[in-house]
Amino acid sequence: MELEERLNDVRSHITAAETRGGRSAGSVQLVAVSKTFGADAIRPALQAGQRTFGENRVQESQAKWPQLKSETSDIELHLIGPLQSNKAAEAVALFDVIETVDREKIARVLADEMKRQAKTPRLYVQVNTGLEPQKAGIAPNDVAVFVAFCRDELGLAIEGLMCIPPADENPGPHFSLLAKLAKACGVEKLSMGMSGDYETAIAFGATSVRVGSAIFGAR
Ligand SMILES: *Cc1c(COP(=O)(O)O)cnc(C)c1O
Repeated sequence: MELEERLNDVRSHITAAETRGGRSAGSVQLVAVSKTFGADAIRPALQAGQRTFGENRVQESQAKWPQLKSETSDIELHLIGPLQSNKAAEAVALFDVIETVDREKIARVLADEMKRQAKTPRLYVQVNTGLEPQKAGIAPNDVAVFVAFCRDELGLAIEGLMCIPPADENPGPHFSLLAKLAKACGVEKLSMGMSGDYETAIAFGATSVRVGSAIFGAR
């Protein structure tokens, strides 16, 4: 199958899941995860009208996206991987959405950089819904306090929450927990669901899904 076919396939599954969930058409944003794929593999997605992309590494993104952004307008780039403090300046400069605000230190550094560059990427807090030791993210019990800290002490508006459920568990309860946490702290957007479970995520209220291999193929 060609990329455009796979992309259209994912789009139609999203539309069907929106309908099943009583969600309005187009309410779920598709973030096409292009990590590990080069500019030549990404261009067909742009040609097929896709404009929102996710990447997990700042350095890799710098190698391909400035060029792609110069070729096509309206690209919206999401950082969906862990962010180190020493890459915060580059991340603020390149990304439109940073989904992985996951600790106090990075929130502080981002606040400083955003001021310095007079640039305001939209921010999501990553939540470690499965309390996995190897995974980044704020513990569910600490989300409300962390979101309030970002807002009140740093002046950072948090637009959404994001999670990556444990690979070996039923994702439904994790999506449900993320939705509950967002509601409790007045955060609107929910980034959840990947190639294997984005339809489930939509059923639980995802406002964006991060789909890589179902569009670009195996990595
Ligand atoms: C790679 C990645 C995805 C996409 O995963 P697929 O299974 O290829 O759809 C989604 N979210 C994050 C955080 C990722 O790192």
